[in-house]
Amino acid sequence: MMTDQRIFNFNAGPAALPLPVLEEIQSEFLNFAGSGMSVTEISHRSAYFDAVIDEAVARAKRLLGIGDDYHVLFIQGGASMQFAMIPMNFLGPDDSADFVNTGTWSTKAIKEAQIQGKKVQVVASSEDKDFSYIPKDIRFNAGAKFVHITSNNTIKGTQFHEFPETAGVPLVADMSSDIFSKPLPMKKFGMIYAGAQKNLGPSGCCMVIMKKDFLDTATEGLPSMLAYKTYADKNSMYNTPPCFGIYTIGLVLKWIEEEMGGLAEMADYNIQKADVLYDFIDSGEFYRTTAEKNSRSLMNVTFRLPDEDLEKEFIAKATEAGLGGLKGHRSVGGCRASIYNAATMESMYALVEFMESFEKEKSA
Ligand SMILES: *Cc1c(COP(=O)(O)O)cnc(C)c1O
Repeated sequence: MMTDQRIFNFNAGPAALPLPVLEEIQSEFLNFAGSGMSVTEISHRSAYFDAVIDEAVARAKRLLGIGDDYHVLFIQGGASMQFAMIPMNFLGPDDSADFVNTGTWSTKAIKEAQIQGKKVQVVASSEDKDFSYIPKDIRFNAGAKFVHITSNNTIKGTQFHEFPETAGVPLVADMSSDIFSKPLPMKKFGMIYAGAQKNLGPSGCCMVIMKKDFLDTATEGLPSMLAYKTYADKNSMYNTPPCFGIYTIGLVLKWIEEEMGGLAEMADYNIQKADVLYDFIDSGEFYRTTAEKNSRSLMNVTFRLPDEDLEKEFIAKATEAGLGGLKGHRSVGGCRASIYNAATMESMYALVEFMESFEKEKSA
């Protein structure tokens, strides 16, 4: 079926991109920057592409308020590849790392370190309550090489609203589903990373932002494509990089900087959007969120209806009404509205209006 209307897209990932970004891509897709070629056709060794990647890197640094003591890298293999690369690069035979387990993605990150026989300590976990909260007052090991967290739990709908105090041990954070959604205390982080397809661009490109002095502690002797140093030394172009992804990320960052006004403004907007939905859900009994209130995510709103049949019907009717992607992750069921940076206030009102009318229909 073809539709000439764009839907309200609540997909978890790949997810909605800002419409102005899609329009910009469309407008220059056949002839990029007067090159007479599409951005997907130009050489990554050309001055055209140098400008694309340099601008994406510069914008990322400006938005986060970081300088030349950080690398901004683009790596293929998604966030899942990072789960393997992080322990491979940073845990030597005598090192160990602390991990906080807040759900599916943290669990996978831990597993990838363990597969390699690395020393991992799970210092806190919210598994006892089905990952419905973010652990507080965690005691970290002073000798740990790094502390790994998942800043936003895409599947369970929880988010760190404050980052843990690690007494100087660098934080490494999987920010796949909330990077660039708010300002970050970058000093705490040795590394942040994000698969692009949630909040940044198309799939196939992972953004890695790493402190140079953290990279200096990496182990040697790894295969080139698995060593961060290769990407840092070659401006992410040791081999052919994910060109279209880098280009699109650059446009999304430009949109955040120039249209939205920066990360503080982006954060305000994200809070306002999430409030519309949470306030509505909290105002009645029909819908209920799955996460504990003070751990709830501003990016992925996970909720249940009174029973599974109603959930099925809710999702089907929402889809018919032009509200897509509201099905919860297959591992947990229920419903989920992913409301990343690109989600508009208009889409929030449309969703709440639909939820209200569905509830009325079922309670009549
Ligand atoms: C989606 C997601 C991943 C997996 O990303 P891939 O790019 O598919 O490997 C990892 N972590 C988080 C928090 C995610 O949301």
